Amino acid sequence: MAGRNFLFVPGPTNTPDRVLRAMHVAMEDHRSSDFPKLAAPVLKDLLKVFKSQSAQAYVFPSSGTGAWEAALTNTLSPGDRVIAARFGQFSHLWIDMAQRLGLRVDVLDTEWGEGAPIERYHEALVADKQHEIKAVLFTHNETATGVTSELPGMRKALNDAKHPALLAVDGVSSIGSIDFRMDEWGVDLAVTGSQKGFMLPAGLGLLAVSQKAKACYGSAKLHRVFFDLGDMDKANATGYFPYTPSLPLLYGLRESIGMLMEEGLENVFARHHRLAEGARAAVKAWGLSLCARQPKWYSDTVSAIMVPPGFNGAEVIDIAYRRYNLALGAGLARMAGKLFRIGHLGDLNECMLLGALAGAEMAMRDAGIKIQPGSGVAAAEEYWRSSAAPLEKRELPPRAPDAQPAEPARPAAAAAAR
Ligand code: PLP
Repeated sequence: MAGRNFLFVPGPTNTPDRVLRAMHVAMEDHRSSDFPKLAAPVLKDLLKVFKSQSAQAYVFPSSGTGAWEAALTNTLSPGDRVIAARFGQFSHLWIDMAQRLGLRVDVLDTEWGEGAPIERYHEALVADKQHEIKAVLFTHNETATGVTSELPGMRKALNDAKHPALLAVDGVSSIGSIDFRMDEWGVDLAVTGSQKGFMLPAGLGLLAVSQKAKACYGSAKLHRVFFDLGDMDKANATGYFPYTPSLPLLYGLRESIGMLMEEGLENVFARHHRLAEGARAAVKAWGLSLCARQPKWYSDTVSAIMVPPGFNGAEVIDIAYRRYNLALGAGLARMAGKLFRIGHLGDLNECMLLGALAGAEMAMRDAGIKIQPGSGVAAAEEYWRSSAAPLEKRELPPRAPDAQPAEPARPAAAAAAR
């Protein structure tokens, strides 16, 4: 299909041309004496995105799921008790992994569309007088439902309960896109992947580990091989990896961290918020609702949009893809067919998102959903225009006078020379 594919799934996100160019490298020897010049600074700079000065960063050739596994297996032992809320497909999958690894999980089942139930976490922690619960698993941004939960509130709940459990956070669709402060919020294990806020292809599992979590490594008895932090520590200490790293992705990561730092993380977060608000204005104008039930849970990285009863979100997605070259995110598991998702994270601006909103509008109308043509696009435009920062004045060429003198005839010789 002609033209660019409009990629609006909530990961993988658009890879900026700069990052694509940085990844376009011939393969190199990952054991050369030059290699540490690439790897060591990347590991150090990565921590800036996690906002940590004291944690240690790890880069695995995997995806977010691998970093989930690394977080659990390097700090916990079979039979250890952990607590986790389940309120969407990704929080569900992390719980499933923990159970399959042999952990005992206290599952706090919560309505999909709601945020993590901090009160219930708090009650369970207070009740755990023996401190049997070794870790709190917390999905910061539930990508399946477009819900962001209050991470500082979770830290406070742990502090108020005076509970020493590790705070393990899934930040796959938050880190690098919405506010995340590893040190300030006392996060012990922060998990993410390369294909969302980092604007890279999938292929890296990124993990930051606090000193407190690192101290658990020695006594943690869960099996680990590929994800063993000890092996990684030994190799990383000299600037290498225990196995073959993905060179293009490391070059890409270096570039994407550079881009995030150039824009400034706070500006990146503000941009995502502004884009998300425009998308939410569109949803409202369409007369539809978000899966996220309250504004306090609205995600700035993904909007999960409920389709009216009787319609199938999968059809909207399929029409958008086949007719308009627009990729929208699917409803997952119990949300299948009930919603479609627009990812508004990564390398993105207003005009790009307008394209997605217009495409979604057309696809919904094609699927028979009653939508006022242009309503969502107009609402997003109005929001962005009315909230735009003022532009500084610039000298521009003046407008030509309306009554134009006739153009002088071109000398014949000059015209012929052309
Ligand atoms: N956690 C969340 C919140 C996610 O959105 C995803 C993927 O979309 C994952 C975990 C799994 O990450 P990956 O697909 O990179 O393994």
